[in-house]
Amino acid sequence: MTMNSARESIELLGQLARIFLFEEVKHGLRDREWMALRFLARANRFSRTPSALASHVGTTRGTASYIIQELEQKGYLEKTRSAKDKRSVTLSVTQQGKKFLVRDPVNALVDAIALLDEERKTSFRDALRHVLDQSDTGQQRHRADICRGCMFLRETRGNPENETPAEFTCRLFRAAITDVETELLCTSFEQRRQ
Ligand code: SF4
Repeated sequence: MTMNSARESIELLGQLARIFLFEEVKHGLRDREWMALRFLARANRFSRTPSALASHVGTTRGTASYIIQELEQKGYLEKTRSAKDKRSVTLSVTQQGKKFLVRDPVNALVDAIALLDEERKTSFRDALRHVLDQSDTGQQRHRADICRGCMFLRETRGNPENETPAEFTCRLFRAAITDVETELLCTSFEQRRQ
């Protein structure tokens, strides 16, 4: 890619970003509230906490608490306190919240990308991940990504002959991970070395 086409890509990304970064309120929510609700609907159980949300949305803990309160009042989010430690809270998107996400402004982008053929969809995703990784390295920032590519994920291969499924364990949280959870976002993700 020449320098010009690299710059052109960023100009296009900037225009795309206006779809999910906006000043006004869309369907009753500001962009950060949409970002929070969207993230919590895709996050694994370790990342559905107020501090992980604050780090993902890029706010202070105080602003994250305000966002959580707004979403709770609207009936899109609920909090569960841990039985062991009452200070520890898990956030869950309610059925109403899941239905409301059909109106998410980013769905227009998801639908447009879905129209690409499989090869272009995969290379578009991989190119964005590469750019994010490169810029993370420069800025020392941490990013969320899906568990499947994380260096802490250990897979015990299944056996198709006796239909034993593969089993996953997170070495960071020392916990079992289900197959479905391997596709969810985690804020403790670390890129596996290539
Ligand atoms: S393996 Fe990585 S991404 Fe998955 S839960 Fe553990 S830290 Fe998070």
